Amino acid sequence: MNLLTLTAENYRNIASARLNFVPGVNLLYGKNAQGKTNALECVYLFARGKSYRGSGDEDLVRFGEKGFHIGISYKTRSGEQTLDYRYWEGSRKRQKNGAPVKLSEMIGNFRAVLFCPEHLSLVKGAPQERRAFLNIAIAQCRPVYLKLCDEYNKILENRNCLLKEMQKGFRYDLEELESWTDRLADTAAKIAEYRISYLKKLAPHAKDLLNDLSGSRETLQITYQSEAEGETPSEIKESYLKLFGENRNREIAAGCSLFGAHRDDAEILVNGISARAYGSQGQQRSVVLALKLAEGEVCRDETGEYPVFLFDDVMSELDETRRGYVLRETGDRQIVLTACESGGFDPRAVNMIGVENGIFTEQPRTEG
Ligand code: ATP
Ligand code: MG
Repeated sequence: MNLLTLTAENYRNIASARLNFVPGVNLLYGKNAQGKTNALECVYLFARGKSYRGSGDEDLVRFGEKGFHIGISYKTRSGEQTLDYRYWEGSRKRQKNGAPVKLSEMIGNFRAVLFCPEHLSLVKGAPQERRAFLNIAIAQCRPVYLKLCDEYNKILENRNCLLKEMQKGFRYDLEELESWTDRLADTAAKIAEYRISYLKKLAPHAKDLLNDLSGSRETLQITYQSEAEGETPSEIKESYLKLFGENRNREIAAGCSLFGAHRDDAEILVNGISARAYGSQGQQRSVVLALKLAEGEVCRDETGEYPVFLFDDVMSELDETRRGYVLRETGDRQIVLTACESGGFDPRAVNMIGVENGIFTEQPRTEG
């Protein structure tokens, strides 16, 4: 999959822009606070459905304006496609190839893998960071997974609400609790199955990639961690039901659900020890890079083509070997990356786009 163009109007500090991308490596370069990350955020919004920086749409509107309009065109095996997103005073319009689509119908069309400095939290951070990684990666290849997660969150909210009422003594309805428990165990088991099977596909790629990145010094293992046992949905559901049954009073006392897909994690080991607890900064960064590149490999295995790789400000943090690995071993991957300097990039091989105050200027390509 290749990104062809990005257009943006009144998006953050971008008043109006049209960018052209090439297959291979594209570099957005410029000083701090010029709009490089804004452009990547804008592209990734089409893959994820919302800003990855946790901003609401209203924050994305250029100061002093009432709405923004962004669009991409991209090429897939089935031809050229477009996606458009307009936000105007609280209302949203999304279009795929000119026809209106819902948010859930937009996700899964344009697929991208994003790697930015904050993603070190994938190794260092709380379990929710690793769950978010899995959720976003799975949803891009299997959009139905998003619906399952939405359903799960609604059931969890209802069950937690009831547990809270039971904790406070406002209500004591075991029959209703049983019913929510069964539904929660059922959807938690389905989510766990998706995540377990995703990790089984991701792990061998991530292991090979870290092996290459580290000059065969580091072995990566990543496995799903859950209090429920089993691998099939029925085994996992049974295990959850047993946990809920044995801990009913604890859950009522806590006023919330103590088990489920919202508590699971993925354990990452390098050479057999926890990367979170013992990994050096450099090792942790390499693990994240390996996981992100592996995410792209799984996406290609599942859909037949690579997603677009978006690398925000990470090149300066990688050493020469790793940077070379990313830039030279591109194969048929398309990469859009940002950096403060254009030095160190080969203008014959890289599509250079200068960024200044929200204005994007394409540099003429020198033939190599
Ligand atoms: P760095 O190299 O420091 O990461 P950058 O080029 O990636 O810089 P961006 O994160 O893209 O910078 O932000 C560019 C500018 O956009 C910032 O100065 C920020 O204040 C501005 N900005 C953010 N949101 C809005 C908005 N809604 N309207 C106008 N400007 C905004
Ligand atoms: Mg930035």
